[in-house]
Amino acid sequence: MLSFLGRGSAFADEHNSAYFESDGDLILIDCPMSSFEKLNDFNLTLFNHIYVLVTHTHGDHVSGIGMLIDLLQFSVKTPITIVAPSKEVEGDLFYLLSRIEGCGDSWYELINSEDLDKDWFVCPIRTVHTLELSGKCFGYCLNVDGKRVVYTGDTNTLEPFEKYISDDCYLYMEVSAYKSPVHLYCVDVLEKIKEYTSRNVHVYLMHMDDEKRIADVIKDTGAMFAPLKHNDFTMENTGRMLDGIFDITDSLYNDMCKNRTDDHNLLFHYLTDLGKTIVDADRASFWKWDKRKGELWTMSATGVDKIVIPDTSGLVGKALRNKSIVITNDPYSDPDFNKEIDMKTGYRTKSVLVLPVADINGDFIGALQLINKSGEAGFDIEVDPKKLSLAALVCGIALESETFLEDSHHDKLTGLKNRMGFYHDFSKKYKDYLIPDSGKQMSIFISDIDKFKRVNDTYGHNAGDDVLRFAANLLEESCGEKENIYRWGGEEFVMVMRDAGIEDCVKKAEEIRVKLMESDIIADGNKLNCTMSFGCKLFDPAKSIEENIADADAKLYTAKETGRNRVCE
Ligand code: GH3
Ligand code: MG
Ligand code: MG
Repeated sequence: MLSFLGRGSAFADEHNSAYFESDGDLILIDCPMSSFEKLNDFNLTLFNHIYVLVTHTHGDHVSGIGMLIDLLQFSVKTPITIVAPSKEVEGDLFYLLSRIEGCGDSWYELINSEDLDKDWFVCPIRTVHTLELSGKCFGYCLNVDGKRVVYTGDTNTLEPFEKYISDDCYLYMEVSAYKSPVHLYCVDVLEKIKEYTSRNVHVYLMHMDDEKRIADVIKDTGAMFAPLKHNDFTMENTGRMLDGIFDITDSLYNDMCKNRTDDHNLLFHYLTDLGKTIVDADRASFWKWDKRKGELWTMSATGVDKIVIPDTSGLVGKALRNKSIVITNDPYSDPDFNKEIDMKTGYRTKSVLVLPVADINGDFIGALQLINKSGEAGFDIEVDPKKLSLAALVCGIALESETFLEDSHHDKLTGLKNRMGFYHDFSKKYKDYLIPDSGKQMSIFISDIDKFKRVNDTYGHNAGDDVLRFAANLLEESCGEKENIYRWGGEEFVMVMRDAGIEDCVKKAEEIRVKLMESDIIADGNKLNCTMSFGCKLFDPAKSIEENIADADAKLYTAKETGRNRVCE
């Protein structure tokens, strides 16, 4: 309904004032100097007429009006009407604008609200604020776009407004974090706010002295902060936004140099955060599209846990299916929107932007999703995708290189990690186990399919492949949380067992040996059986990885020499 040029109290940088547009007119509620400065970003020549509704004459509400009149008189030429809520305030404003600010009588029109004949205007509401301005402080009841709007102005009571607050109306009320006789103390009005929101009143808070403290107090009431107008192109906002962006890239750069990035995870985390900052959204997530499995999964998400969903569902799925950007500022009316997640979490999605991300060949591989842009208007189809393109581009490159790295660590035939994956894990996951006398122990075994060449020779290479896949699958299924299996090469596999002694290792190998021996394997249409031999070794941190493997291999050799289908330690 209303947008705000500022929502701070007298001692804040940006003083409270609101505006809306109607039929080509701009209607301001109060106009402090900090709001006047922002009005320079509006193209005021585009409006037919400007109205300023004054609540009361404190400097943080009227100090910009004289300047605005001057600007319109000498430069913009748009007519302006100052609306006083009462005869008495009209007199004070005349004194201020004509005698003190020195505005010529013909430069502006000053009227009492009784004489204002506009569809959007209902009435002023007299209230109580400071003693010195007693009888001269007002709020307003308005009718904006067919909706009732109640605006309290500065007040120490809600009482005069109560009769205007209807179910489903828009209430803009002042609150303060510190108790005083002239303002509404947030703690005191907590119950009232809850009552209003339970009646579906849209409660927006304004004229705030300490937003952090107020946010804490009202967090479960359903009230929101008055929406600030975001003019992204003011120098101040651009500077702040760039600062936010550089903070993120600086952290990323430093973390990467210190090798703190856990593969690509941290990178994705920073990049989604970057997207969130650039478009000023509440949440962001980056999704990888696993086309083979038909799944989408979050590489990084703010505010939610990692999720995996089918690629046929949700707005991310839609964007990837259609290979195009999805923007909605009314997600509940989009049949592709997944309401269930909101229902489960209690979070209310109001606007969504999904930018699909392609690799260097133009194949779509993932998507960046932003939720709930700050402010009322939602995402902008022109501006926001353009701004996000930077984060999306880097996400695309990062995801491509992550996928490439993942692929290079895995074996295509069995899907197990390969020797490269093995060494990578030693440099990360197992590095604590490589330190002598650390008190941590781990064990490894190396296993090799017996007489495997014969399978190939007898049943063909395809059958051999099936046997390899079967054995790999059996080994993988046998892995506990702290156990990992690698395809070492050919028909040889290595298992690494963290926090396991040699007895655990032998036991595990023995279990697997028996399971494989007892399995009927269907290999390229043939039913066959095969066995495996094992060499076990308690990992010795004083030796190199290669020496440890060689020790295990020597045990495997013994197993082969002493009849195969056995475990040696
Ligand atoms: P041993 O019991 O002494 O280990 O005898 P073996 O026949 O298993 O050992 P050998 O090293 O002589 O033969 C291993 C065979 O594994 C030779 C090779 O062609 C086959 N092999 C290696 N990789 C693959 C693969 O990816 N697919 C298939 N089908 N065969 C493979
Ligand atoms: Mg073999
Ligand atoms: Mg071999």
